[in-house]
Amino acid sequence: MYKNVSYWEQNAFIDNIDFAVIGSGIVGLNAALTRKEQYPNEKVVIIERGPLPSGASTKNAGFACFGSISELVSDMEQNGEQAMLDLVKKRWEGLQRLREKVGDQNMDYQEYGGYELYYEESEEYEKYKSYIPYFNQCLAAIIGEEKVFTEVADATQFGFNKNIRLIKNIAEGQLHPGKMIRALLEKVNAAGIQLFTGVTIDQVEDLGNSVLLKSELFDFSAQQLLIATNGFTNRLMPNLDLQPARNQVLITKPIPGLRLKGCFHFDEGYYYFRNVGERILLGGARNISPLEETTDIFGTTAIIQETLMNFMASTILPKSTIEIDHTWSGIMGVGATKSPIIKKISNRIGLSVRLGGMGVAIGTIVGEEGANLFD
Ligand SMILES: Cc1cc2nc3c(=O)[nH]c(=O)nc-3n(C[C@H](O)[C@H](O)[C@H](O)COP(=O)(O)OP(=O)(O)OC[C@H]3O[C@@H](n4cnc5c(N)ncnc54)[C@H](O)[C@@H]3O)c2cc1C
Repeated sequence: MYKNVSYWEQNAFIDNIDFAVIGSGIVGLNAALTRKEQYPNEKVVIIERGPLPSGASTKNAGFACFGSISELVSDMEQNGEQAMLDLVKKRWEGLQRLREKVGDQNMDYQEYGGYELYYEESEEYEKYKSYIPYFNQCLAAIIGEEKVFTEVADATQFGFNKNIRLIKNIAEGQLHPGKMIRALLEKVNAAGIQLFTGVTIDQVEDLGNSVLLKSELFDFSAQQLLIATNGFTNRLMPNLDLQPARNQVLITKPIPGLRLKGCFHFDEGYYYFRNVGERILLGGARNISPLEETTDIFGTTAIIQETLMNFMASTILPKSTIEIDHTWSGIMGVGATKSPIIKKISNRIGLSVRLGGMGVAIGTIVGEEGANLFD
């Protein structure tokens, strides 16, 4: 417990906060930047529990994507055509905002395309292939390309077996999430926004004339508060439709001569992999132990890591010897519907949370919209 705050510390760092944001992921950083742009004289602060930004934004796979065909069909079946198209538009525009703000070279953005993988003659392949003309027609106005989706004639060019079929999305890209967040942090510093790291907020309360934020280290008082804690939010707000969803990831050592390039989706997005230079990053398989993975505690499990390795050996790089360099996990925030929660819960407290597996694409806009909840 550290509550031995000096008058000087209190005065210089903690007092007179106009706008506080909890969480320094893509959403929190964009929200703070937006607020400071609109109100340059305000004291804007971000409070982060980790020593670094420690949420999904720096632990994800770096797919700059807006939907594989199976994902779009599923969205349309659940929510209707218009809602599916609105979400594609939001993801596409969010990606363009992110690229403008950060700059492609600052986050290693590469447009190698995205691919959905199927087994030859599977029902899924026949079903989703038949949707290509339909999606090309409806997405042309949003993406500005006549043929967003195409069939790939020969999947063996990437090193896959002959029984693999691919549908390509030419407008998908990939990026380095760590560099993306580092570039946003540099903007936050340059804008004069104060970042507190290593401070976990345990409780928040709208007192009517200010907001109280309680932590073990200090208590803060702010005029307005935006909560951008995504998969960790139910620790602060247990009654929201938002559950944590852990996702495990591994990355190989460099594989000389690797032919695989781009972002790949398999099994309705439950598996995803990409090249990182000459390495392969592979993640997912949370559907094999959904209960165990409904947690906001970081960790990897033998069953998921083995499943990922078996998939690597059977489908991604058959007949190769692979060495794993690194494994980790990250926490997503999910709910009954795919749309994020962006709303005020009291006069002075707002939320920008529940980004599912789309935060790279929509995080910039969700942060901006969160800041705009307030006058
Ligand atoms: C393994 C994995 C792979 C993914 N791959 C992709 C992908 O390829 N493409 C894509 O678009 N999306 C992907 N996602 C989803 C995407 O990463 C998230 O949607 C996005 O990063 C969410 O951003 P955020 O700012 O809302 O939350 P986060 O980045 O999770 O940030 C929340 C922050 O709040 C902090 N925090 C939480 N509680 C407190 C508290 N009480 N006090 C202080 N600080 C607190 C956390 O430490 C964290 O830094 C993936 C997610 C995971 C886990």
